[in-house]
Amino acid sequence: MKPKKISELLIGTNNKGKLREIKALLPKNIKIFSTSDFNLKSPRENGKTFKENSFIKAKFFSKKSDQICISDDSGLEIKVLNNQPGIYSARWGGKNNDFDLAIKKVFKKLDKKMPGWRNKIIKANFICALTIYWPSGKYKTSIGKIYGRISNIKAGTKGFGYDPIFIPHGSKKTFGQILPKKKYKIDHRYKAFQKIKKFL
Ligand code: IMP
Repeated sequence: MKPKKISELLIGTNNKGKLREIKALLPKNIKIFSTSDFNLKSPRENGKTFKENSFIKAKFFSKKSDQICISDDSGLEIKVLNNQPGIYSARWGGKNNDFDLAIKKVFKKLDKKMPGWRNKIIKANFICALTIYWPSGKYKTSIGKIYGRISNIKAGTKGFGYDPIFIPHGSKKTFGQILPKKKYKIDHRYKAFQKIKKFL
């Protein structure tokens, strides 16, 4: 049996960068709600994996709004730092979500772990888990990754979060220097979305 097409969907995030990006991925015929339409604060993310955290958010926002909800949990994984910051990517920005601070922390950790890293290739990837949660309790989850490296300087003002220090494979520019509409067609969120969109 073909799944019933969705006509309304809540994007379960309070992160403006993610909201913009997920909105751009969704078919235009779906009526989209955001968490501010229901005055919803984010739940505590106490999962141990990206999948678990995206599930926690999608379920929470769906239950609170009685809407079908799509939520992502995403982050940056740096190979030489044992995949840190990983699920703590947002938390490295501190209480005020300060990504200058988070990026300084990345550079500091790299300085400590690998002096001279600025002349080396520091492999990294963004990862995104998406969950769609239905009020009935049904859910689907997918994972997408984009591989690349850490830039030796912060560059570009586009995007959000760690975009100014991530250079995708095959490019010389950071995500902070790439036009959003180009980034949206290659990144981790796009790849996770390709795997889950058949359920919408
Ligand atoms: P969370 O999924 O709410 O835990 O937050 C994930 C964090 O990872 C965000 O706050 C960003 O800092 C970072 N992140 C996730 N996706 C991206 C991206 O596409 N660009 C830059 N940073 C990202």
